Amino acid sequence: MTASIRGGIFTMAMLLKGAEVAKALTEGLHAKTEELKKNGVEPCLAILRVGAREDDLAYERGALKRCEKVGVAVRQVVLPEDVTQEVLMENIHALNADEKVHGVLMFRPLPKHLDDEAARAALDPKKDMDGITDGSLAAVYAGTDGSMTAVYAGTKGGYPPCTAAACVALLKHYNIPIKGKRVVVIGRSLVIGKPVSLLLLAEHATVTICHSRSENLPAICREADILVVAAGKAGMVGAESVRAGQIVLDVGIHVGADGNLCGDTRFAEVEPVVEAITPVPGGVGTVTSTILASHVVEAAERAANQ
Ligand code: NAP
Repeated sequence: MTASIRGGIFTMAMLLKGAEVAKALTEGLHAKTEELKKNGVEPCLAILRVGAREDDLAYERGALKRCEKVGVAVRQVVLPEDVTQEVLMENIHALNADEKVHGVLMFRPLPKHLDDEAARAALDPKKDMDGITDGSLAAVYAGTDGSMTAVYAGTKGGYPPCTAAACVALLKHYNIPIKGKRVVVIGRSLVIGKPVSLLLLAEHATVTICHSRSENLPAICREADILVVAAGKAGMVGAESVRAGQIVLDVGIHVGADGNLCGDTRFAEVEPVVEAITPVPGGVGTVTSTILASHVVEAAERAANQ
């Protein structure tokens, strides 16, 4: 909880902290990896990185830390910035074929000289831990019975993008009702906006997706019970777009003018108004790497049961 003064009244918005969610999920996952190891299966994630982009490195550090806590082994495959398409494809095929590797996290965007579509298409959807293949996205699209399990059990593989799944995990951890609620998502990317909308639709929310051409955006946002902000624009959502009683998930991550991390909402304006909000840093992003680890554990369990 954080304290604030609203209209002279002392109020508090609940802070939806990711660390708490990650801790709870990690405990359950650790028990599963112990069980798998007893049966001779060591869950293993391969991280495929081309070059050394700062945001890839940050994600990688988070993934390494979380996988270690959960008991998932990580193999880092690092290719030079100027790698050829041929060598990249060879590496993807090798990871697909390696039975010891249960899941692959391939960082994108790839450098411009590489064919992203071909790389994406080459990855086996069953090993696609971050929902980048068409097979995974098809499973997200088809998961309509209200459970995440339906998404994961998609016949072609099917793991949703980790950040989108992290939003749902966060809401569930804090027992925030989704069924029947009005959700507004700002953003329609394949990484967050669209998949989080479909995952919440599968949870029986009524979902509106907004984008850069949406008219009267603040008015639409104010209608939401749950507002998911994934616009990639620092501080674009302020007091004009929120009302009392709302739950706000701020997915954005930016380095602010002061050098500190900030989100897509103007936290100081929004927090005093709403019921609950994710902090940046320490909110959705903190859950993302735990979801990644959970996908690897799930893939290892599936492989063990085949
Ligand atoms: P993206 O590909 O740039 O997509 C942004 C979306 O927001 C687009 O659909 C765009 O609309 C929409 N948008 C942009 N400006 C808008 C405006 N003024 N009004 C309404 N809609 C607007 O970004 P992304 O990859 O989805 O990422 C979004 C944010 O999440 C970024 O800040 C990124 O750093 C962050 N992120 C966080 C995590 C995490 O773990 N927390 C993980 C990945 C990314 P159009 O489609 O019309 O252009």
